[in-house]
Amino acid sequence: MSLNLTGVTLTYPDGDSRLTALDRVGLDVPGGTLTAVVGPSGSGKSSLLAVAATLITPDAGTVTVDGVATAGMSRGELTALRRHRIGTVFQQPHLLPSLTAAEQLQVMAHLDGRSARKAAPRARDLLDAVGLGGLAHRRPHQLSGGQRQRVNIARALMNDPKVLLVDEPTSALDHERGAAVLELIARLTRERGTATVLVTHDRTHLGVADRVTEVLDGRLGALR
Ligand code: ADP
Ligand code: MG
Repeated sequence: MSLNLTGVTLTYPDGDSRLTALDRVGLDVPGGTLTAVVGPSGSGKSSLLAVAATLITPDAGTVTVDGVATAGMSRGELTALRRHRIGTVFQQPHLLPSLTAAEQLQVMAHLDGRSARKAAPRARDLLDAVGLGGLAHRRPHQLSGGQRQRVNIARALMNDPKVLLVDEPTSALDHERGAAVLELIARLTRERGTATVLVTHDRTHLGVADRVTEVLDGRLGALR
């Protein structure tokens, strides 16, 4: 399991010219390790995750997910790759209001063409792993912000991804709950062997990361 980005350049249209969001970025994340990417707002962090998630095709460079080169893949192939190998946790949990915590996870199995009912034990195990074992029957409005983010994290792991991409998971949480969520992500990374990239503008609690890199104006540099 690993994630590799090599020479990734991404530009967006910007009036008559183009804005360079990522400038020849390289990143190599082995399975079972957590790389944190820090940088100010607008520096290119979310763009980096979108490219790693194969949601945006870069202008140049390659993205390799668990040994699979993504260049030249069709839209359908990329969708399947994302479903099987990539878990994403974005800033807002985007949980479905009418579903219980367990059902939010079971939907992922259903989207992957498997039986939602048969996925129930795995959903339970994952909710246990994120400390929500007793709240599996609750709907989003019956959960706190931190609990919703934990459901979001468990859901991202439902299809046993090789790569876990996490964007600003603590932005809606207070300091203590933010620290707990980062510790949870680090523990799950080790237990499940995912190649994890965590993007944040918040430099507190980065002790949980194996490596920390900084993005500034689309360029990546090592901090530690
Ligand atoms: P961050 O996540 O670090 O705040 P982003 O990756 O969202 O940074 O954005 C990097 C730069 O690219 C910013 O200047 C932003 O305005 C620009 N940008 C992001 N998305 C788009 C888009 N879809 N179209 C045009 N410009 C964009
Ligand atoms: Mg962002």
